[in-house]
Amino acid sequence: MISFENVTKQYNGDTLAADAINFTVNKGEFFVLIGPSGSGKTTTLKMINRLIPLTTGTIYMDGKRISDYKIDELRWNIGYVLQQIALFPHMTIEENIAIVPELKQWDKEKIRNRVTELLDMVGLDPTTYRSRMPHELSGGEQQRVGVVRALAADPEIILMDEPFSALDPISREKLQEDIIHLQRTIKKTIVFVTHDIQEALKLADRICLMKEGKLIQLGTPDELINEPANDFVRDFVGSASHLGTDFDLEQYIHPIPNLTGQEPSAISASATLAEVLDRLSEHDSLSVEKNGVPIGVVNRQIMIDYFSQHITRGGDSDE
Ligand code: ADP
Repeated sequence: MISFENVTKQYNGDTLAADAINFTVNKGEFFVLIGPSGSGKTTTLKMINRLIPLTTGTIYMDGKRISDYKIDELRWNIGYVLQQIALFPHMTIEENIAIVPELKQWDKEKIRNRVTELLDMVGLDPTTYRSRMPHELSGGEQQRVGVVRALAADPEIILMDEPFSALDPISREKLQEDIIHLQRTIKKTIVFVTHDIQEALKLADRICLMKEGKLIQLGTPDELINEPANDFVRDFVGSASHLGTDFDLEQYIHPIPNLTGQEPSAISASATLAEVLDRLSEHDSLSVEKNGVPIGVVNRQIMIDYFSQHITRGGDSDE
């Protein structure tokens, strides 16, 4: 679907931001580019939609060189989501989402239906939100609009550059859920840049770990954890694999008690260990939800039991 063949990017005849990169992203795959700051992730991503020209090598999309596409054709077929979504401030949410469909000259009804469908997909009630202006939305809601705007004209490929990094943990978790759900239902090819290993392990089918412009290891989350190519990979993934990577909240939940009074705060069943701990620092107990439906509860005592089972006496993980 997307193939890099010996792709190199050199800025100012100096920095090798991408150094002989070879990889193939499969159709429908969630492909994560990760690495420390300055490792070449963004450069690699932006070469795909020709926001950055490459120095040597070739990138193919569906077997055709990206340089052989007309630039509009390429950009319209590749959705793009940035860290700070820039919605047009003087346009409504509907107008913002409709930009590429308008350019593609879809008819009005088709556009209207598409906007409804997309807002529904990310839990923003279309009747309320379509006519709002961007400043009437929270940061998390604007970011959701940014994500669906990239999907509006049904591109095959979506590029995402740290799309959730400016969000608070709760909005971030919600959007991660949305994007996992979207990718499973609409089967888009997603190339996603992050520097957060937890996020990468949670979202990726495969992870491409970069350092100083070089591809260090490409593999599934399991392969990076269990078969690191070298010490750099082991250290990079290490903090995450140490404890809790395999954490599956659903295995630890207790049945829902007969509640009286206040509804407990909710967390998704696919939350990471860090997210559960973060939320339990504020609440004694949380309702665990799957697809928006409560399936059980988790509380501080359950997590204390989890740690006492998983941490050896010296304080090291036994995983
Ligand atoms: P990452 O996304 O992993 O943080 P980047 O792709 O942004 O890395 O940058 C890779 C390297 O290229 C860095 O050393 C960075 O300083 C350099 N670089 C990025 N953009 C430019 C530019 N426009 N001009 C010169 N050097 C750049």
